[in-house]
Amino acid sequence: MSWSGGHGVLRRDGAGFGLAERGPFWFPEWRRAERAGTEGTKRGAEGLYPELASLGGLVLPFGPMQVRASSFKGDRPPCPVDPHHPVDRHGAYGRYANCDDAEQENIERFLCRPCGHTISVLPDRKLPYRAVPVPLLEKHFDAQANPGQIPEPPATQNEKGCLKRAWARFQQRVAPLIATLGQMIRSVKPSAAQLWNQLRRHSNLPTILLELAQPFNTSLLHDYLCLQLWTSPT
Ligand SMILES: [Zn+2]
Repeated sequence: MSWSGGHGVLRRDGAGFGLAERGPFWFPEWRRAERAGTEGTKRGAEGLYPELASLGGLVLPFGPMQVRASSFKGDRPPCPVDPHHPVDRHGAYGRYANCDDAEQENIERFLCRPCGHTISVLPDRKLPYRAVPVPLLEKHFDAQANPGQIPEPPATQNEKGCLKRAWARFQQRVAPLIATLGQMIRSVKPSAAQLWNQLRRHSNLPTILLELAQPFNTSLLHDYLCLQLWTSPT
């Protein structure tokens, strides 16, 4: 199975936003809280920028972006507009570490000074905008997709609530994920369980999340195609 779909940058066209080839590897921060308490205390620039900027036919996400830690090498992410731009550390914001308590962990943030926009780096064990840890979610989804064969992982009541909501959300994501992944999914109309098992035959959840972000510019539980746009400095 190949993940080389080559999607990732939004292209402006008459029919709305299609996906262009040769995408960068980021996706922007989701702008709405999935539910209260999952996003932390500070969310970076909050303005909404509905205008589109075209760069050689490509439309780039604008505003704060989020990349997965393993999507780049080195101690900081490159600027998605121009990898030669200097990117500086730019503080951090707190995000709830898990579903179970109010403990927060810092998400590092970087600033491309020429572009004037920030890039936050999500640890690989984190889901975008969900407090539930990636390893726990993976085990729960495995159990949901294989009832009677794979036991549910131990979880607290709060975690069980998070996990239940996440699986319910994933069940709603089957059609858009199929549309994105296309021929990589062999079943014509897979159930959520079939889709999950097929994704898992390919890889583990951290890798699935990374590869949905790059090149597909999406994620497991959210559609990131409703984007702000990041324009190149002129
Ligand atoms: Zn830049």
